[in-house]
Amino acid sequence: GAASLALTLSACGQSGDGGSKDEGSDSAKGGTIGIAMPTKSSERWISDGANVVKDLEAKGYKTKLVYGEDDPDQQVSQIENLITQGVKALIVAAIDNKSLNNVLQQAADAKIPVISYDRLILGTKNVDYYASFDNSKVGELQANYIVDKLGLKSGKGPFNIELFAGSNDDNNTKYFFNGAMSVLQPYIDSKKLVVQSGQTGLTQVTTLRWDGATAQKRMDDILTKSYGSKKVDAVLSPYDGISIGILSALKSDDYGSASKPLPVLTGQDAELASVKSIIAGGQTQTVYKDLRELAKVATTMVDDVLNGKTPETNDTKTYDNGTKVVPAYLLQPVSVDKTNYEKVLVEGGYYTADQLK
Ligand code: BGC
Repeated sequence: GAASLALTLSACGQSGDGGSKDEGSDSAKGGTIGIAMPTKSSERWISDGANVVKDLEAKGYKTKLVYGEDDPDQQVSQIENLITQGVKALIVAAIDNKSLNNVLQQAADAKIPVISYDRLILGTKNVDYYASFDNSKVGELQANYIVDKLGLKSGKGPFNIELFAGSNDDNNTKYFFNGAMSVLQPYIDSKKLVVQSGQTGLTQVTTLRWDGATAQKRMDDILTKSYGSKKVDAVLSPYDGISIGILSALKSDDYGSASKPLPVLTGQDAELASVKSIIAGGQTQTVYKDLRELAKVATTMVDDVLNGKTPETNDTKTYDNGTKVVPAYLLQPVSVDKTNYEKVLVEGGYYTADQLK
């Protein structure tokens, strides 16, 4: 609207002297926004950090970006530092969604608004908005892909499936898993899908900190203990890094050879290694989430909040964090496999054709 146009113009007109901007509704311009990301060990968060910084700078802000190396305590002290340094707002992708109550109370006391980025922060009223994807839909896309690939709708089966979920301290985990199970459970009930390991409950199938090596080890154990001469036909994996671990376990058990085809194997994030694996016939599917769009949503929320505007949301009932329902803007995830990666990822400008070689 007019306000944001005025802001854009004034940000453009500014020539490097940050001192003259502290007035009126424009007071946050030139201020610093703190961004706390969970880890550099996965590509997606590196992109998230870079995208958010770029968008905020384009809106006239300075930024401080920190990564918590998957250590919840480190993330808490990083956020404390950001608050001490006087950031005007915080964008946080939590490592442990329940560990931030105290530090976010400090943020609230300093009147620093907080945007929960991708992962919902739980158990505190001090989170203003949530920018994410439709996380249940992510799981549904993975499960529907399995159902279609196996031909379950046309009555084929029974097939063997194993189930993996993400980290138990990430609020997204249960949305991904429950979304997937809403599709798979009827086939498990009718025995068209059989989980030979018997591990079907969320607490049995989580993978701490989304660690690929942990998933690989679990898959190894399952193949040894529950398969023998049987074959696994599908594996529900919530994230590309986990899928790559599962794929290694499968390959060391001779899957991928002529007599033992690889199972249908899902994923998430369209990370480079996984897209290459999909092209090469390893992993089967991934769920692409356009992180450029997510950064746009989160940074626009910050800009709006700091300028007294109400950010646009499209979901005000799903994401109850235990203390309040956090108004959310949810983007749509997209299923990607060998048949559409060029159209979605290359034509969409997410990767160049060269990167995928
Ligand atoms: C994100 C996923 C990601 C996972 C592991 C989740 O919170 O939504 O995109 O695969 O964390 O980093």
